[in-house]
Amino acid sequence: MPTGRYDLPEIDAFTRPYWDAAAEGRLLIRRCRDCGVAHHYPREFCPRCWSDAVDWERACGRATLYTWSVVHLNDLPPFGDRVPYTAAVVDLAEGPRMMTEIVDCAESELWIGVDLRVAFRTGTDTGMPAGGAGHAVPVFRVAGTGVE
Ligand SMILES: [Zn+2]
Repeated sequence: MPTGRYDLPEIDAFTRPYWDAAAEGRLLIRRCRDCGVAHHYPREFCPRCWSDAVDWERACGRATLYTWSVVHLNDLPPFGDRVPYTAAVVDLAEGPRMMTEIVDCAESELWIGVDLRVAFRTGTDTGMPAGGAGHAVPVFRVAGTGVE
């Protein structure tokens, strides 16, 4: 069996603003000043035109569900304690497609295109101390449920 933890981000100087923002409840994406296209996950160069004129931008937090899969078995700690959970790919309102997790929702409530809102798994349920970079991970819930 694997040991250690496989759910913690590896934060470096480039990604630190992303994790700092997440810890404050904001989802950041990157947008190219040359071609205007937004992307996610964050890269130092625009994946469309390879410009390095790319800035952080706060995403509005709205997305629609592109696809999902309910995970019933995962040997990598700590995911084994979380099964079943819903791994998903969502389309952010700004355009980028993002891998994430759908929370607080029965699978029967999910359908392709359902409206989602970003939420953040915080230190309390990641087992990490609350606050600080890397201690919140963006997840999504179905719009109209929970706090928006
Ligand atoms: Zn570009």
